[in-house]
Amino acid sequence: MSTHSHASGYDVIIVGGGPAGCAAALSLRKSNPDVTTLLLDDADPAAFKIGESLPADAKNMLVYLSPTLYTDFTKDIAEGVHMPCSGNASAWETPDLRETYAVSNPFGMGLHLDRARFDQCLRDAVAGTTAGSQCTVVHGVFNKVEKTEAPEYQGWIVYVRRYGSGETDTYRAKWLVDASGRKASVARKLGAKTIKTDALLAFHMLFSATASTQHDHDGRTVIEAATAGWWYTAQLPRGRRVVVYHTNDDDASAKLARKQAGFLALLDETKYISRVIAEHGYEAVAEGHGKEPRPGCTAAGSSHLVPPMEDRLTHGWLAVGDAAMAFDPLSSQGMITAMKMGCVVGDALARRLRGEPDVEDLVSQLLRTYIRVRSRYEDEKGYFYDQVSRFTGPFWESKTTA
Ligand SMILES: Cc1cc2nc3c(=O)[nH]c(=O)nc-3n(C[C@H](O)[C@H](O)[C@H](O)COP(=O)(O)OP(=O)(O)OC[C@H]3O[C@@H](n4cnc5c(N)ncnc54)[C@H](O)[C@@H]3O)c2cc1C
Repeated sequence: MSTHSHASGYDVIIVGGGPAGCAAALSLRKSNPDVTTLLLDDADPAAFKIGESLPADAKNMLVYLSPTLYTDFTKDIAEGVHMPCSGNASAWETPDLRETYAVSNPFGMGLHLDRARFDQCLRDAVAGTTAGSQCTVVHGVFNKVEKTEAPEYQGWIVYVRRYGSGETDTYRAKWLVDASGRKASVARKLGAKTIKTDALLAFHMLFSATASTQHDHDGRTVIEAATAGWWYTAQLPRGRRVVVYHTNDDDASAKLARKQAGFLALLDETKYISRVIAEHGYEAVAEGHGKEPRPGCTAAGSSHLVPPMEDRLTHGWLAVGDAAMAFDPLSSQGMITAMKMGCVVGDALARRLRGEPDVEDLVSQLLRTYIRVRSRYEDEKGYFYDQVSRFTGPFWESKTTA
């Protein structure tokens, strides 16, 4: 493996170009256009990405971050790249479906996103701010970080494997932001630990329309509690649907859900989710080209990083988005919280780099925000799981707070 050294240093390197990292980059740029930023991301924009429901009020956040981003996003919506979400229908406290209509939301309709495309649109907006060449987006994999106290440069050296090649590039920065999602790739290398407060897994399968598929007009997110977990399905653009099953990693159903036959057998036991799939004649498909149609599996529990950030006066690192704090998908607040936190982090760093004398201490300000968000989330999560008393068994017992 050969290494190419890059002499160029940046004020900030952000690892991860999902909602958190992109919001941080855009907010940095907005608050201090002189800051030089490198955004590093390894996502394949053609691959399926889970996490599709965008609440309606997220649109305000996009307008705030970048009017150009919002224009591109609305163009995508007009072209059918993303789909409107007409509301939620949940069989949760009772076996009956209860509806929440998007029309009663003052912010209007949410969306079911082509998630990979949405994230790419965010990264394009970050790259688009390069007019003064202040923000560079690099497609590569972060794999190592070193701290340097060299007199000519104090900060971080970051090693990046260039996408599609074995070449390693190095970059330097004063500040490092870990926005790499649940992997918390940077923070873990720096000795921080992810504390998991539960063991929820999400098994997801894609379904696609076939020649015999009845047109699917159901724009709702359908949610259904089950004996050992809970399900949701959402319609996706291009005639697809995602079906997701959540259970604990030690539940017997988790073993079944790893294979297509087991997943479909569990799906058959649901009342509403299976009906949506059967009524419209969907067929299970692979999540990527040349792959078998089998369920994907991802961690979906609540977790938080300890410590979420460190300060070294002249340089430091911090984590944002899922890398700092990840939520149960029941909350549907992952993306909006990641973007809000990205904005706070970007703005605070921009002010710090501008040397504003009266800036409240960056670390304590951010820590207070993190603690507030986590505490509100834990209360709400407890409230929602406590609503389900019609099932007994290890999964629901593990969720009740009483
Ligand atoms: C099953 C499930 C369903 C969900 N549904 C929803 C939903 O409907 N609505 C919602 O709002 N939220 C949902 N979420 C949560 C939401 O997806 C996350 O909260 C959100 O993606 C967090 O954004 P992020 O930017 O912190 O991380 P991510 O979106 O994970 O982005 C991290 C980025 O970092 C990159 N990266 C990682 N490691 C490296 C590395 N070493 N080098 C370079 N790049 C790297 C990744 O490729 C990725 O692009 C769901 C989550 C799960 C598990």
